[in-house]
Amino acid sequence: MSRIRSLDPRIANQIAAGEVVDRPASVVKEALENSLDAGARRIDIDIEAGGSQLIRVRDDGLGIGRDDLTLALERHATSKISTIEDLEAVATLGFRGEALASIASVSRMTLTSNASDSVSDGCCAVAEGRDMSVTLRPAPHPRGTSLEVRDLFYNTPARRKFLRTEKTEFGHIDEVVRRQALSRSDVSFTLRHNNKVVRSLPAADDDGLLLRRLSGVCGEAFMAQCVSIEREAGALMLQGWVGLPTFSRSQADLQYFFVNGRVIRDKLVSHAIKQAYRDVLFHGRHPAYVLFLSLPPARVDVNVHPTKHEVRFRDGREVHSFLFSTLHRALADIRPGESAPSVA
Ligand code: ADP
Ligand code: MG
Repeated sequence: MSRIRSLDPRIANQIAAGEVVDRPASVVKEALENSLDAGARRIDIDIEAGGSQLIRVRDDGLGIGRDDLTLALERHATSKISTIEDLEAVATLGFRGEALASIASVSRMTLTSNASDSVSDGCCAVAEGRDMSVTLRPAPHPRGTSLEVRDLFYNTPARRKFLRTEKTEFGHIDEVVRRQALSRSDVSFTLRHNNKVVRSLPAADDDGLLLRRLSGVCGEAFMAQCVSIEREAGALMLQGWVGLPTFSRSQADLQYFFVNGRVIRDKLVSHAIKQAYRDVLFHGRHPAYVLFLSLPPARVDVNVHPTKHEVRFRDGREVHSFLFSTLHRALADIRPGESAPSVA
């Protein structure tokens, strides 16, 4: 008798979910990525009980047509890539076609959407973890999408046990929202927790407003003690703000690095930045920064980890020396008393 069996899709999805969804904040991250990929201009996030009871993300993006709604919940179903060449040059935040299937397998999920301008064309797909069967029903909804996730991990008690306090989980969600809000100041974000508005970030489309977004996310103290930088070298372009050495932190909690609009964590990047600050920061202190690196998509592989937090640069050494030299020069140029950008 054979000992090897193909796993039931339900279990396969739950295993896959383990990689993508490890806490409520990861649901919010995936939902925000989907909303941004759909061209949303406005995103509203409602959280109850740190996200363990309810996560609702509503956008005014392209929406999903009725015919696509069931497929959207299937694993490896995506509208974002179709060939291996597409994968080589991904321009969207998502591309794995896994998030919704994973979330549905570990929660009670409702996806309501409408891809037309007539509110009555809206449609709602309900998926419940256990059997993953999807039911569709008409549901009025303006153009755009609402994702509602209730009782996260209700059917995976081991995961549910790892949830921390409501406050901690909400803190992680807030952090996810802050990151996305920094990368897209042209989109407005509202974050509510237990019906209270915690963060309200209106869309910004000029420089003054961009600084206001920066201040809304990073705080006035950072604004008063940072310098803006911008440098282009060949195909690499770096833009953003770095904290003055006087604004060093005891924790690495104000460090945002984006590659082509995607927030990432990368050893090579952290190392280059740390080196640039080495002469101006006391040992044990951490710099604060918000930096956006742009480079041709083909020069960076984003398909390294399911959460897409890691990337691999085709030419890591070039990126490292570009970052180091840009920041090193910027920090060396700072003269005492130089004024920081002001908030409009
Ligand atoms: P991926 O984002 O990797 O494609 P997901 O599982 O996150 O995979 O989503 C599956 C598909 O559902 C997406 O490719 C997209 O077509 C559609 N979709 C999901 N969320 C939204 C949204 N907020 N607005 C429009 N379409 C969406
Ligand atoms: Mg996605």
